[in-house]
Amino acid sequence: MGASPVYDVFVVGGGINGCGIARDAVGRGFSVFLAEMNDLASGTSSKATKLIHGGLRYLEYYEFRLVREALMEREVLWKNAPHIIWPMRFVLPYAEGLRPAWLLRLGLFLYDHIGGRKLLPATKTLDMRSDPSGRPLKPLFSKAFEYSDGWVNDARLVALNARDAADRGAVIRTRTKVVAAHREGDHWVVTLEDAKSRETEQVRARLIVNAAGPWVDHILTDVVGDKEAHNVRLVQGSHIVVAKKFDDARAYIFQNKDGRIIFAIPYEDEFTLIGTTDRDFSGDPRTVEISDAEADYLCAAASEYFVAPVQRQDIVWSYSGVRPLYDDHASKAQEATRDYVLKAEGGDGAAPIINAFGGKITTYRRLAESMLAKIEGFLGKRGAPWTADAPLPGGDFPQHGFEAQVKRLAADYPFLEASLARRLVRLYGTLARTLLGDAKGLADLGRDFGAGLYEAEVRYLMDREWARTAEDVLWRRTKRGLHFSDGQVAALESFMRGQGA
Ligand SMILES: Cc1cc2nc3c(=O)[nH]c(=O)nc-3n(C[C@H](O)[C@H](O)[C@H](O)COP(=O)(O)OP(=O)(O)OC[C@H]3O[C@@H](n4cnc5c(N)ncnc54)[C@H](O)[C@@H]3O)c2cc1C
Repeated sequence: MGASPVYDVFVVGGGINGCGIARDAVGRGFSVFLAEMNDLASGTSSKATKLIHGGLRYLEYYEFRLVREALMEREVLWKNAPHIIWPMRFVLPYAEGLRPAWLLRLGLFLYDHIGGRKLLPATKTLDMRSDPSGRPLKPLFSKAFEYSDGWVNDARLVALNARDAADRGAVIRTRTKVVAAHREGDHWVVTLEDAKSRETEQVRARLIVNAAGPWVDHILTDVVGDKEAHNVRLVQGSHIVVAKKFDDARAYIFQNKDGRIIFAIPYEDEFTLIGTTDRDFSGDPRTVEISDAEADYLCAAASEYFVAPVQRQDIVWSYSGVRPLYDDHASKAQEATRDYVLKAEGGDGAAPIINAFGGKITTYRRLAESMLAKIEGFLGKRGAPWTADAPLPGGDFPQHGFEAQVKRLAADYPFLEASLARRLVRLYGTLARTLLGDAKGLADLGRDFGAGLYEAEVRYLMDREWARTAEDVLWRRTKRGLHFSDGQVAALESFMRGQGA
């Protein structure tokens, strides 16, 4: 039996940052092993507001580097994943007594001009008395600004990065917890524990990337067993989902009296997503939940704007996540920097560990490039940066080609309902065809679990996207959970268990 391999890079964490780094690294020729203790994107990366955005608000904190980088990424990411990322227009009503119009205009001028915008349309001013976006709002708002940003299916962005990394040779291990790591000679010995069997195994690697998000300090303190670490500030953010409040493809960005902003965004065709909050968090990130106070805050903030108030009983779903922000000792949670910081330890004979603190979904690809520069500093140079021009799985069609893809899929699989064909292209892009194979009718897709979820899709997600539980399928790979009854969830769970999941 040969000795077990020594991987070049061991990545802790299957969120957007871990998966983005694994993909970039393996594509440059490094051997990569990634371990995720739960499901892909089960941490913060499925709990975002889901914007690919520069962060208009961050301009107020002079975060020009971050805003510029993030703005530039909008069109790069859209080009590489036009199925799960698309442009969205945002309506920002001007509200008397809050930020002055000249300040908003200045911010949006910068937004339009510092971020290499080519395809996204520019900002314009709206007369809310005549523009349809004024209709669902109280008549207090006569003027608004409309600007561009992007929307992303956050959890799928993670799964697609993992898929691509695996296709290029990376080992992606989910439900596998990193429980210990120690240096041995010039490399690391990492101990992994299987979540189901509790069996442990050891993997050797030349370098560790710590991309554990809210757990990044925990890895340093308890897994590498080093010393106290206080690099991140955990800031909870929650969202509520209600039945659709308006019939427009545009989203709203509302200013609150406390100086914060919230978004109201068209969501999954039939819903409106409202969020988010910002409050310091000190519990276990795995158990984070929206509080009553947060739900009330979001309802009240949205009700300042919508004619029909948003009430607690309107909430059909909510989710909550923890931002692992780099601790820059800002006084308020909302003021803490959203930029990322990478810090390396080791080298000179001691195997290195590089920790990623902070960051945004929007900047994950750039964070990975910066991480690769650091990795190459230790392990030597391999390939050049490559991810700016490489479509993610299923994203190999033109930026404006989504509707054409839906049409072609519907023509080739005429038995699909229009809404199903559209949903499949939104989630899988050109790979919808792989999922459907040579099916000639709905019966060929196997068991119908409800809400347009067929066995063929579940099997695809189990085979190719590491889905193991009904929750993985219903809340992360798809959002069919919004339409499923408890009985349907149980049936899906039992089917997946029967498949050995
Ligand atoms: C409310 C909210 C709204 C947001 N909105 C936006 C937005 O609109 N746009 C945007 O760009 N960004 C947004 N963000 C920021 C973005 O979501 C995060 O920056 C990003 O998801 C962080 O990704 P990550 O990979 O670092 O962390 P995570 O996604 O948390 O991944 C870390 C992973 O490490 C795993 N892990 C931890 N310990 C171990 C271990 N011992 N062994 C194995 N695995 C382990 C965890 O299970 C987890 O899956 C938002 C964040 C929040 C909370």
